[in-house]
Amino acid sequence: MTAERPSAPLFNRLALLGVGLIGSSIARAARTQGTVREIVATARSAATRRRVAELGIADQVVETNAAAAAGADLVIACAPVGVCGEIAREIAPHLKPGAVVSDVGSVKGAIVRDMGPHLPSGVHFVPAHPVAGTEHSGPDAGFAELFVGRWCILTPPEGTDQAAVDRLAAFWRALGANVDTMRPDHHDLVLAITSHLPHLIAYTIVGTADELAEVTRSEVLKFSAGGFRDFTRIAASDPTMWRDVFLANKDAVLEMLGTFNEDLSKLTRAIRRGDGEALFAHFARTRAIRRGIVDIGQDSPAPDFGRSHPQLPAEPLPRPYAASSDD
Ligand code: NAP
Repeated sequence: MTAERPSAPLFNRLALLGVGLIGSSIARAARTQGTVREIVATARSAATRRRVAELGIADQVVETNAAAAAGADLVIACAPVGVCGEIAREIAPHLKPGAVVSDVGSVKGAIVRDMGPHLPSGVHFVPAHPVAGTEHSGPDAGFAELFVGRWCILTPPEGTDQAAVDRLAAFWRALGANVDTMRPDHHDLVLAITSHLPHLIAYTIVGTADELAEVTRSEVLKFSAGGFRDFTRIAASDPTMWRDVFLANKDAVLEMLGTFNEDLSKLTRAIRRGDGEALFAHFARTRAIRRGIVDIGQDSPAPDFGRSHPQLPAEPLPRPYAASSDD
């Protein structure tokens, strides 16, 4: 891990309200990096409480958000966006004065709207979104390195205590993230195009393929390396989380979807008219965008074989394909 360890814990007690992929990754990273003295987590079901205890990623696992938040210096809601307002209402009477209250939701306008009004004055509300994840869910899916080299976007409401914002930024940096600050509505517009729309397209295309006839469907699966495989990975993302994202970021997603549909129509027209020049110009522009992403270190230039360690077949290839020692 390349993150810098703070010389002393940044917070005494961290409460994680929800220990799925993101909550359990924060727990693992915060412990590895020594950013907090104690971690308390909420898990509503007995089975999850047992699992979190077995994994040993929190010092205490409690049943309610109120119990976890009581006495905590940093409280992070790590649950789907749609329940965060209710969580804020539940924890409000139990918050310690001076506590920093945050979240990890993929939409920020709705979080500010739903959580903010419940929180008492005297606590510092600093919403956050670590732009890092996988298609897996639950406490077993998390890992300490998830945030390394990724961005965490803070969207503090106007007038938020700067010292609280700085402390939360230091927390995320200690977990390996780069930190940026934005207005919530700007965050939602940016993420609509970089994350929400790509997920919607993946959900659509995988659903469309599934509606094809049985014979075609088996060919879709067999030849899925041709781009489709990447869509299936994205389309395996958590249904609750993504339902909430589209409900909560409706306006920005619809705006981006309008622009996307116009561009799709242009490409459709170019294909119909056999306009190779237009297609080439478009693909050349998008290739340059991909190179830009690699250049700023947000992805690797290595070819994606769809397997982390592509291997040659264990059995020797039959002649004439196998090279022999007397060749
Ligand atoms: P996850 O693995 O499904 O975990 C969500 C957790 O929230 C579950 O443990 C669930 O517990 C818990 N939960 C649900 N309702 C709750 C409530 N009322 N009180 C306390 N806990 C509750 O999901 P995740 O991927 O970690 O996503 C969590 C948040 O992170 C979402 O807001 C999402 O937008 C954001 N996020 C996700 C990603 C990603 O790629 N996955 C990336 C960045 C941000 P039960 O098992 O008891 O239901």
